Amino acid sequence: QVPVITIDGPSGSGKGTIAKLLAERLKYSLLDSGALYRLTALAALNRDADLSDEATLTEIAANLDIRFELRDGEVAALLEDRDVSRDIRMERVSMAASKVAAMPGVRAALLQRQRDFRRVPGLVADGRDMGTTVFPDAPVKVFLTASAEERARRRFEQLREKGVSVSLRDLLEDIRARDARDMNRAASPLAPAEDAVELDSTGVDIDGVLQTVLQLVRD
Ligand code: C5P
Repeated sequence: QVPVITIDGPSGSGKGTIAKLLAERLKYSLLDSGALYRLTALAALNRDADLSDEATLTEIAANLDIRFELRDGEVAALLEDRDVSRDIRMERVSMAASKVAAMPGVRAALLQRQRDFRRVPGLVADGRDMGTTVFPDAPVKVFLTASAEERARRRFEQLREKGVSVSLRDLLEDIRARDARDMNRAASPLAPAEDAVELDSTGVDIDGVLQTVLQLVRD
């Protein structure tokens, strides 16, 4: 079996960064599963689809025409041959993604597509349910957390670097609302796999977390 390292956790826990560094270090493929939900949401928005209609959203997810390509060292997401890497990070797409991700039909439609990312020599899979649902047999599973305050602060710094000014308090509220939605939904709620190692990155820098995960991979 091709090895898979799953990195699950709430938004802002740093899992995206850790997953990317880990894949680079190990020369593994990378699955950003959140991007699939974002692409589904964007495809639906582009078509003016009713975002609460599960049958339509499931059909859109099942027939997504998407591709990931390495462009200038970054992974670009293409929807119908158009680079939408920036579009899928927009706030309205994030909101829509979290809505469509709660639909069991959409999750089922994206399941095999996620498993197809498993290729030699290995895969790093970043998401919410990588260790529980998509790759339950993964030999290394990490559940990365950080306090809501720390995650809000990280997001605040990221946005400030981009020249976007927002209030830290609003960000904290958003993060708490998203956590509650991710943890309380019926379909694949955010929770660590039984055999996942839980790491709290509050007050730990990226390199510290990376070293800990690399140690787990070596053990
Ligand atoms: O991680 P990211 O913020 O890009 O995820 C976008 C949305 O997709 C989130 O609302 C999250 O709840 C959902 N998601 C999911 N399962 C995954 C990855 C993301 O439900 N494996």
